[in-house]
Amino acid sequence: MWQVVGQTRAVSLLQRSLERGSLAHAYLLIGPAHVGKMTLALNLAQALNCEASDPPCGECASCQKIALAKHADVQIIGLTSNGNSAEAKPQAEISIDQIRQIQHSASLPPFEGKHKVFIVDGAEQLSDEAANCLLKTLEEPVSKVIFILLTINERLLPATVTSRCQRLELPPLAVTEVETTLSSSWGIELQRARLLARLSHGCLGWAISAASDDGLLRQYTERLDRLLDIINADYEERFAYAAQLAAQFSQNRELVQEVLDLWLDWWRDLLLVKVGCSDIITNVDRSATLIEMAKGYSLAQIKAFINSIQAAGGQLRQNANPRLVLEVLMFSIPGKGGVVEEIPLPNVR
Ligand SMILES: [Zn+2]
Repeated sequence: MWQVVGQTRAVSLLQRSLERGSLAHAYLLIGPAHVGKMTLALNLAQALNCEASDPPCGECASCQKIALAKHADVQIIGLTSNGNSAEAKPQAEISIDQIRQIQHSASLPPFEGKHKVFIVDGAEQLSDEAANCLLKTLEEPVSKVIFILLTINERLLPATVTSRCQRLELPPLAVTEVETTLSSSWGIELQRARLLARLSHGCLGWAISAASDDGLLRQYTERLDRLLDIINADYEERFAYAAQLAAQFSQNRELVQEVLDLWLDWWRDLLLVKVGCSDIITNVDRSATLIEMAKGYSLAQIKAFINSIQAAGGQLRQNANPRLVLEVLMFSIPGKGGVVEEIPLPNVR
């Protein structure tokens, strides 16, 4: 049984190809973080090596080894798979050495299973040399060897690489599907399942992690509390916050995008409340705050600030000066009751 939840389109395509023996030698699984790309890749690796008549059974020795990442013919490479000693610098790219290593392994016959499967997690993080090196392998397929590349954004990969792979898109699940899965398969209490499902934006993996790791939800709550403080803060504090975020940006871009996404969620919720659709808000546990806060803004103000957050996200992705972008964003937070405050512009240079 395929364990990945939802994703019926991708699963049925793979299932048909398996039955016809017409699998591609390389796949590119595209979808947001925690949507189920790795689960599907491992399921495919299981299906290719399963010992039962209805693969992937999930129960035979081979399926179990793959689930535990202990199968000699299924290898996963990504940023975390090396450089894990305490002194090692965080690895910025998937290196050419990692690709050479799997190329060597791909040249040898399967050790214990039927197929060799190489999963490249976060393929957008391949260095240019590594991507070129991988391309050579993709151009010369070897029988019984399958590559599965996972990415959140295929445009960050060279077209020469993506064109050699069969694309499979994994869209976010419906929030209700996440909610149902959380309560029926994971035994999560309804109220909590509802909140986690909304916060996950259809990425079940995130909701499952957050259900078992209180830290994730606590971090979310802390960031949201900080956001609410900043909305009510004076400009000095807002700009200090912008500077702090900008400093984090140089260390961890993703984290700052996560914060911006949280801002976007909050203001979209305000918009939904304002137009009378509070039943579909993300922050279901804060609906009272949202309703109260929405009273202080006009619809136009909320829409304008949502545009500002989106613009800031776009500018950061295009490598604009993070401090400047975030200061402009802080400057654009609307004043309550439609009051425009007289304040000096940040020093734009
Ligand atoms: Zn099996």
